[in-house]
Amino acid sequence: MDTVRVRFAPSPTGFLHVGGARTALFNWLLARQKHGVFVLRIEDTDMARSTEASLEGILEGMRFLGMDWDEGPDKGGDFGPYFQSQRLHLYKEYADQLLQSERAYECFCTSEELNAMREEARAEKRDPKYDGRCRHLSADEREAKRAAGLTSVLRFATDYDGQTTVDDRIRGLVAFDNRQLDDFVIFKTDGMPTYNFAVVVDDALMQISHVIRGEDHLSNTPKQIQIYEALGFAVPQFAHIPMILGPDKTRLSKRHGATSVTQFRDEGYLQEAMVNYLALLGWGYDDSQTVFAPSELIEKFALERVSKNPAVFDLKKLEWLNGVYLRDLDLPTLTAAALPFFQRAGLVDESPTTEQTARVERVLETLQPRLKRLDEIEVSASYFFQDVVEYEEKAARKGLLKGSAQEILTFLAKHLNTVSTFDEPTLKPVFAAAMEQFDCKLGDVMQPVRVAVTGTNSSPSMYEVLPILGREVTVQRIQNAVTFITVKQEEES
Ligand code: GLU
Repeated sequence: MDTVRVRFAPSPTGFLHVGGARTALFNWLLARQKHGVFVLRIEDTDMARSTEASLEGILEGMRFLGMDWDEGPDKGGDFGPYFQSQRLHLYKEYADQLLQSERAYECFCTSEELNAMREEARAEKRDPKYDGRCRHLSADEREAKRAAGLTSVLRFATDYDGQTTVDDRIRGLVAFDNRQLDDFVIFKTDGMPTYNFAVVVDDALMQISHVIRGEDHLSNTPKQIQIYEALGFAVPQFAHIPMILGPDKTRLSKRHGATSVTQFRDEGYLQEAMVNYLALLGWGYDDSQTVFAPSELIEKFALERVSKNPAVFDLKKLEWLNGVYLRDLDLPTLTAAALPFFQRAGLVDESPTTEQTARVERVLETLQPRLKRLDEIEVSASYFFQDVVEYEEKAARKGLLKGSAQEILTFLAKHLNTVSTFDEPTLKPVFAAAMEQFDCKLGDVMQPVRVAVTGTNSSPSMYEVLPILGREVTVQRIQNAVTFITVKQEEES
């Protein structure tokens, strides 16, 4: 079988967002499964909007997701250059070929003329497309226009007869009436090729076997097929993957929390979780399986199993999946992944001491069962490293400023000072004694302690938290809470 050669062709005009990453992933999965080649081609012909920063961001996003490319920037390859801006000579060569065979022509229409043409068409309730008026200019007429200093674009001489059928691996046969097309521009006045032209020259010369891209490009495909045919190129296989919508069923955007993939990384999503989730945006193996390691995705991915229906981006599901992967990590790996988040939050030094790393490990061990994103650590782990200077308002109201909290805490401060070691077996009897003394439930004892030592009312069990904090810190924080309650009571009386 011929080598599978696929490509991801981003324009460096923005982030690598969820949609682009999912397109890249489907291409990458197919390449890896078929031991084929994954090409990264940068479509930077829009000079005004393309930036180096965007390119860097895209490459960084690709690397975060582990989608390595075989040919492209930094790598080179036999079919380069891989930046469209460096391939202008190739586009010229093929445009010339189209001019020679009269499948392209110069168009001198000014924007005023084009506007007037569209207005007229609209007024007559016709499709506002280019009417082909420059198609049949004689050589002399063209020469005269050039001599008059008129600038021109190149238009493709579309074949208006019959239909162009896209044989799509996902959508089946999709026929387009050629009459709906027009003589679209292939070279602009600025000397740059348009997307529809450059993409064909590149995909053909780079011997791309499968064009896998977003469904928004389906309507471009008949135009591209006509160019392939006019240039005598073999038409690749097409697979148009469904759009991604937000939960409100509108097109996915930042509003839905779908930002650049590197932002997800910065929020503490793991590579494996992200890749797994992106794969599920339009693809599925069977209804019963959600968790797929990257290697399993490579094995099981199939274009035939990509849905025709739009996929819905669900941040909650992504978070849940990330939690699954976080819980699956062994402690040293989790620690290595989480350490940057502790550093970012200022909870440990830039070069953490051995003691700090050991504490990070212990803290992670207690947080791991509930962890969904690594950046939660900035809040949920802070009390292990920093004094509680403030209590959450609601936590204080319910845990400290109610019932016998003050008496219970005073009792605990006194008795916790006397236990030998500080672990579950030694702590339990102290809490039991408090329950007995105040004739209350375990929760009535634990809740004030939790608020006193964490400042919040949600945390792992006190039997896990207190041993990490140790006796001195625990007792100090309980005493601080007693003082806080006293001050509040005085303020109120
Ligand atoms: N640069 C185009 C885009 O980002 C590529 C489309 C294609 O894959 O053909 O939409």
